[in-house]
Amino acid sequence: MAQRVQGTEDLFGGYMRAWQRMQDVAREVFGAYGFDLIETPAIEQVATFVHGIGESTDVVRKEMFRVYSGALVEQLLAKGSEDGLKAKQRLALRPEGTAGVVRAAVQNNFVPQGGAPVKLWYAGPMFRGERPQKGRLRQFHQVGVEWLGASDPAADAECIIMLMRYFERLGFDPASLRLTINSMGDATCRPAYREKVRSFILDHADQMCADCLERAELNPLRAFDCKNDHCREVMRDAPLAPNNLCAECAAHYEQVKSYLDEAGIAYVEDPTLVRGLDYYTRTVFEVEVVGASVGAIGGGGRYDGLMELEGGKPTPGLGFAVGFERIALALQAQGVDLAGAEPACVYVACTPDVRPSAFGAVLALREAGVRTEADYQGRSLKSQFKQANKLGAHLCVVLGPDEVAAGVATLRDMQSHEQEQVSLAELATRVCERMA
Ligand code: AMP
Repeated sequence: MAQRVQGTEDLFGGYMRAWQRMQDVAREVFGAYGFDLIETPAIEQVATFVHGIGESTDVVRKEMFRVYSGALVEQLLAKGSEDGLKAKQRLALRPEGTAGVVRAAVQNNFVPQGGAPVKLWYAGPMFRGERPQKGRLRQFHQVGVEWLGASDPAADAECIIMLMRYFERLGFDPASLRLTINSMGDATCRPAYREKVRSFILDHADQMCADCLERAELNPLRAFDCKNDHCREVMRDAPLAPNNLCAECAAHYEQVKSYLDEAGIAYVEDPTLVRGLDYYTRTVFEVEVVGASVGAIGGGGRYDGLMELEGGKPTPGLGFAVGFERIALALQAQGVDLAGAEPACVYVACTPDVRPSAFGAVLALREAGVRTEADYQGRSLKSQFKQANKLGAHLCVVLGPDEVAAGVATLRDMQSHEQEQVSLAELATRVCERMA
């Protein structure tokens, strides 16, 4: 039997309804903030991710799924190296959504110089070659937003407020959500801060893991995030980003916090929050569910340099992404049913001699927009009723020779078993009334 790829899931039934609900709520909540849906390709040039996410990140170095056409694989195997491949031949499945949306914004000139900000949201699968475990998949699904062209700290605050409203609308107990925020500085103050952290790591080299020593050179701030508890303990004494901000970044951060306070959003400042991708500047944030042990359910931040890294004009930007699978796990733990009930349906049951009349009734109900089921396996009336129950049908339309001769159908309420007769001409109208 063919097997699913490890770390991937089939989305169907209630799980699929839950994923659709996340998108429906996103459309409502983000729509009110002026965001429009965008869909970019799941496959992009590697360069898009290298420029955007950063060459030194784990996501780009270790987790990105690279894609080659069959013909190219043969060529590569014969040559034994990727050297000489053109940028358009080096492809990858997207590990996250931001780089692709920003690439699209540059390519389609969404934010012309001096133009109004553009606000986009997306939903779709992302791919990372991580070791699969609970809440960590190789193909997972994200809903995210990108707000390009806005530098005002009010945008950072509104983005965070919108994220928290989204979680509440999905059904999270607001008291269970822990929002952490930090500011990572910008091109003015971050290089010096980065250097301080690098020196700190090298000064404590004997206490840090090999990965962190490598990070000291590549991306020292990532040492705050090390999976090794001891490294994180050592890093507690490292210089902290909020103490190393330039005046502009410090003022921006203060303003973001004061807007959050004004909106009554509870947050915790975590000066060690750095997030895994290189492109963040200034505000970063993450949301966890207390006691859910699934890791962060969402996070994001500002990325004022990203448009330029993707070849555009200097344009500020910010955004966030949330993960469907972790949200589903965390909501389940809170006893919230994200999937909701199966859609209501009507079942048309008939005796074999009037099957053609049932065919017409089924079509008429569907034309009226009613989700309608019937028998296609020659079942007895009794087992058609059983089937109707199994499908959760609210109503059953029953047709036999007597009904058809009289031009009526029997409408049976599957819960109360009450019955009424309705003329076939008015069947669809009456069913719609009863289902409303
Ligand atoms: P990131 O792009 O790493 O900031 O991730 C944003 C959100 O996507 C996280 O908060 C998770 O909810 C989700 N996520 C990231 N990586 C994975 C993964 N490997 N499996 C499942 N969900 C993930």
